[in-house]
Amino acid sequence: MKLTQLDVFVVKARLDTPFAFSQGWVHQRAATLVRLTTESGLQGWGEAFTQGLEPPEIAAATIEHALAPLVLGKDALRPAVLWQAMYNQTRDHGRKGSVMSAMSAIDIALWDICGKHHTVPIHNLLGGAFRESVQPYATGFYRVRGPGEADRLAAEAIGHREAGFSAMKIKLGFGVRDDLAVMEAIATALNDTEVELMVDTNHAYGRRDAMTLGHDLANYNLRWYEEPVVPEDIASYTALRESLNVPIAGGENEHSAFGFNNLFQAQALDVVQPDIGSCGGFSAARDILGMAQANGVMVNPHVWGTAIAQAASLQFIATIPITHHSLFPTEPILEYDVSNHPFRNHLVADPWAMIDGRVAIPQQPGLGIEINMDTIEQYQTQSATLT
Ligand code: CA
Repeated sequence: MKLTQLDVFVVKARLDTPFAFSQGWVHQRAATLVRLTTESGLQGWGEAFTQGLEPPEIAAATIEHALAPLVLGKDALRPAVLWQAMYNQTRDHGRKGSVMSAMSAIDIALWDICGKHHTVPIHNLLGGAFRESVQPYATGFYRVRGPGEADRLAAEAIGHREAGFSAMKIKLGFGVRDDLAVMEAIATALNDTEVELMVDTNHAYGRRDAMTLGHDLANYNLRWYEEPVVPEDIASYTALRESLNVPIAGGENEHSAFGFNNLFQAQALDVVQPDIGSCGGFSAARDILGMAQANGVMVNPHVWGTAIAQAASLQFIATIPITHHSLFPTEPILEYDVSNHPFRNHLVADPWAMIDGRVAIPQQPGLGIEINMDTIEQYQTQSATLT
């Protein structure tokens, strides 16, 4: 089934109130979206993950100029074959970052088409679902001033608990002293209720401070400690993992089986977090999943995009086996970004929601979503159509 058209859209919205994570201020939410159309009229959608500081135009230009010529006219039902073609052609200028996000968007759209062609959800094409729903965790606790916001963040934790979350991830990396003040305020506010906590410093520290923080967080019974150091410093990941009691997580800034192989070989992680919108799409994520299983590393995908990226993440989460089998095993959980995003949910007709503390895995064909073109038209700043 030949691909006859590719549309790429850049959508973005300025935020009234910018927020910060440890690496900078986020002034806008943005996404690079791809729509693939086949000769039979079937359409598939994909999204390139856009980091908080990443211009979405980079992935859009990669799609328009580098990748579209490689996929147009080719068979849409062969995503793995097209993945190899895209990766090999871009190897010398790609492998990481926005080029891989661009490839991921196309791969997701191809799998969406495959699902629609076979009238099954993507998880069915990947071997079937291990679960019908997943527990979400709240990703929030961004800063609106910087350090010194412990009281406001403690109130935010109460809000997430009242909204039904029983797990939440706290943004740290604003100085070890401030981080510990935030953790103490949140733990006091939650008052030993059954809430599971994780922390994420977005690689704010070097090995020494990351180690100090990790030791001082030992009493919070954390599910994981995410991106303690920069993604390039794999040796420090390994050292932290060997020294600390808290499980070490990372991988949202790693790409493809080649990149993740380095993490597994170094025994750097307890929890690996590929983002379907930047690791290389479903085609790469399933390779990473197999490697993680073989290395005893739990898989919890990262997702911070729109409802399209979230739909892809849900399809993938359905296919993650239990890493350490037992009668009462630890299940993967779903990242649920609660930070400000003007069009995250409006992009699709039927955005998912938490019901009784769970999110259902969509069962409709492909990604299981219907796109609101009105929303794209409202927020798009550029688009290109290639045939
Ligand atoms: Ca993160």
